[in-house]
Amino acid sequence: MRLAIIGTGYVGLVTGACFAEMGNIVWCVDKDKKRLMELKEGRVPFYEPQLSEIVSNNFREKRLLFTDDYKKAIPDADVVFICVGTPPREDGSADLQYVLNAASEMKPLLTNNTIVAIKSTVPVGTCDMVEDLLNKGRKKKIVVVSNPEFLKEGDAVRDFMYPDRVVVGTEDERARKVFLELYSPYTKRGQAIIFMKRRSSELTKYAANSFLALRVSFINEISMLCERIGADVEEVRRGIGTDRRIGMQFMYPGIGYGGSCFPKDVKALIELGKRYNMDISTARVTDRINQLQRENFFKKILNRFGGRLTGLVFAIEGVSFKPNTDDIREAPSLYVIARILEAGGKVRVFDPIALKNFMDYSGLYTGENKRRIYIAKDYYDAARSADALVLITEWNEFRRPDYRRLSKIMRRRIIFDGRNIYTKEVLLENGFEYFGVGI
Ligand code: NAD
Repeated sequence: MRLAIIGTGYVGLVTGACFAEMGNIVWCVDKDKKRLMELKEGRVPFYEPQLSEIVSNNFREKRLLFTDDYKKAIPDADVVFICVGTPPREDGSADLQYVLNAASEMKPLLTNNTIVAIKSTVPVGTCDMVEDLLNKGRKKKIVVVSNPEFLKEGDAVRDFMYPDRVVVGTEDERARKVFLELYSPYTKRGQAIIFMKRRSSELTKYAANSFLALRVSFINEISMLCERIGADVEEVRRGIGTDRRIGMQFMYPGIGYGGSCFPKDVKALIELGKRYNMDISTARVTDRINQLQRENFFKKILNRFGGRLTGLVFAIEGVSFKPNTDDIREAPSLYVIARILEAGGKVRVFDPIALKNFMDYSGLYTGENKRRIYIAKDYYDAARSADALVLITEWNEFRRPDYRRLSKIMRRRIIFDGRNIYTKEVLLENGFEYFGVGI
C-alpha cells in the first residue's frame, strides 16, 4: 500500500518506519524542516531503541520518504495517518489545532478513495469533526477512521510490531477491508484487530491511559498510607500484585507518572466528562494523587533539612519521565528541580540521554538558574559534594551504585529514592540515611 504519515514525532515516525518495514511505501510529512533534514541524513531526532536501524534501512530502500510538502505525499496515498500532537490547553482539554491544520492542508489533495485515519489521541467526536471539514463542498465522501496508537516510548518499535491489539473505529465496510489488509501481518500472527464504532475507539484510548494512570495513583495512595501506619508498600505491592486478577504492571509506587500522555489524557478525560455533564471522579482523583505524590516527595527533602535548602547541593539522578527515553515532557524531575531551586538549593543533574532536552526545553536551564544547575558527566559526577542524592528516573545503570565510592564523594550520605530501586537495609549498612516511597 501507499501511505502518508503526517507528523514525524514518536508516534508518526515509528508508525511510518514500521509500515515501511512491512513493505509499504510510506511518505512521512512534517513541518519541522530541521527534523526532516536530520531524518534525511539518517539521524532519528529522538532516542528510541531499534528505531534508527529501521528508519535508515527503509530510507535506503526508498520505502520510507520524508518531505514537508503535502503535494508529494497525499495524492497517491491509500491511507493518510494523522499523527500530530494534541497537547493540553490551559483547561486540560486537547488542543486540536495541529489535527485541524493537517486536515485543512490535505483536503484539496485527497482523492475520493483515500482513507484518512487519526492516530493522534483525540477527544470523542474529533473524527466526526474532521470528516465534516474534509467533506464540506465535496461530492464523494472521504472516510475518516479512528486508529489510536498504544505504543509506549522506550519500547515503541516492539509495541508497534507486536501490539496486544489494534483498535480501529469505523463503520465503513471498505475502510474495514483496507485496515484488515494493512494490518494483516499482525492478524496472520494471531494478534487481534478490534473493529468498533468510531466514538468507542476514540474513547478507548483515553480510557486505557486513564486506567493505567489510576493503577499508578492507587498504589501511590496506598504508599502514603503505608508511611503513616508503618506498613511497607513494597510488601503490600507484592502481596496484591501476585494475584493474577491484579498483576504487577503499573503498580510501582514512586513520585508519580509523567510524560506526554498520561497527564494530558487523564485531564482530557475529565474535560470530556464535563462536556457531557459528568464528573469522571476516578480520573480527577488519579490526577490529584499524582500531584500530591510529587509534593510529598519534595516535602520529605525539605523536612529532612529543616525547611531550608539554601546552600545545599542535590544530585538529581535522571530527568527523563521514565527510563529508555529522552522525553522530558511533564517529567516529575522538572517539578522536583524547580522546587529545590525555589527553596535556595543547587542541583547537579545527570541523565544518560535526556540532558540535551533538559537544557533546551525544560525552561529551567536559563538565566540566573544556570549558575545553580550543574550538568554532570555521569552518575558519580552528579553525586560529587552533594548533600543528598535524589533518584528520579529508574535507569538500569543507576540500580547498583558503588556505595563506597558514593560515601567518599558525597558531602553527606543521604538518599531520596523516588522509585524504590534501592534496598533500604543495604543502604543503612553502608551508612546512608534512606528515604523511599511508602517504606
Ligand atoms: P510529537 O510532538 O513528538 O510529534 C508531532 C509532530 O507533528 C512534530 O514533529 C510536529 O512538527 C508535527 N506536526 C505538527 N503539525 C503538523 C502539520 N500540520 N503537518 C505536518 N506535521 C506537523 O508527538 P507524539 O508524541 O508523536 O504524539 C502524537 C500524538 O500521538 C498525540 O496525540 C499523542 O497523544 C499520541 N500518542 C503519543 C504516544 C507517545 O508515547 N508519545 C503514544 C500514543 C499516542
